[in-house]
Amino acid sequence: MPTPSSSARLFIIYTGGTIGMAYNDSSGTLVPMSFKEIKYHIPEIARLGYEFDMFAFTPPIDSSNMSPEIWVELAEIIHEKYDTYDGFIILHGSDTMAFTASALSFMLQNLAKPVILTGSQLPIGEIRTDAKENIITAMEIAGARRNGLAIVPEVCIYFDYFLFRGNRTKKFNTETFEAFRSINYPPLAEAGINIKYNDKFIFPVPAGEFHINTKLCTDIAVLKMFPGISQNTVEAVLNTPGLKAVIMETFGNGNTTTAPWFIKCLDHAVQNGIIVLDRTQCDGGAVELGRYETSAYLQQIGVTNGKDLTYEAAVTKLMFLLGQNYPATTVKKLLETSLKGELTEK
Ligand code: ASP
Repeated sequence: MPTPSSSARLFIIYTGGTIGMAYNDSSGTLVPMSFKEIKYHIPEIARLGYEFDMFAFTPPIDSSNMSPEIWVELAEIIHEKYDTYDGFIILHGSDTMAFTASALSFMLQNLAKPVILTGSQLPIGEIRTDAKENIITAMEIAGARRNGLAIVPEVCIYFDYFLFRGNRTKKFNTETFEAFRSINYPPLAEAGINIKYNDKFIFPVPAGEFHINTKLCTDIAVLKMFPGISQNTVEAVLNTPGLKAVIMETFGNGNTTTAPWFIKCLDHAVQNGIIVLDRTQCDGGAVELGRYETSAYLQQIGVTNGKDLTYEAAVTKLMFLLGQNYPATTVKKLLETSLKGELTEK
């Protein structure tokens, strides 16, 4: 049986999520439990030959309570431990894992080591749990090196035999073990009998010193289009006090209604300095402003093209760019540029 060829030191951060939950005896609901002794649950990890240390959030959280403050904390922990460890594993609830992975991809600069998020659909104590495979393979990938360099120096999600670029991933299914997909970017690795790395889609180890950038701004909103959306709703979102940017979730290639009141509202918002990022509601494919008449006017107004950004990457990229206090023109330009492989530039 293939085993990892060299030893590595890994740091595991347990934030919470189903992976470490247990059924509450009285209410029957799943609640986070403490998860200190990972070796007790998965004795097999000793056979990887890796050394590892662990930090557990107290109390552990359901990832629906994840927040930008905790993303900063995670970035700071990784920064503090960076020189001591070869790779990092973040055990995280699946609900918002794609947001955390996307946020960290922007906050961790010149990352030369793997940061792998994983979790599970069934708690680790359940007989049919998917937690063991997810953790063991995530650890193997986090410690994998070739010629002394990390094979995957990126923030990734590993789940159900696939390794994905974190900022390309979305939670896709609440029930099957295949909880995540990366529709617009190929998997970085697939775990079968061997772990097959898709080298040409993985970033090379960067030059430059690792550092973190933890400035985030949450003054954003989302405007999801639907046939029949009212002027009141659109105005309520665009007039949110303090709003700096809005993600407009559009139809198909980035289209919206061309009702005159809607165009006027949008134009007014852009004139007032609000960045409007056009992101398609479709999971696959990209926004193509001007392909149809129903998006051509958006270009004229000055709407920004979200291309094939996931919702999670759009939210966190906006928070990151707004946090830098760049002028709006710079934010708009960088939104349409790939910073960490989160979109396809065309
Ligand atoms: N509600 C859980 C969480 O996100 C679900 C999971 O872990 O899969 O924390």
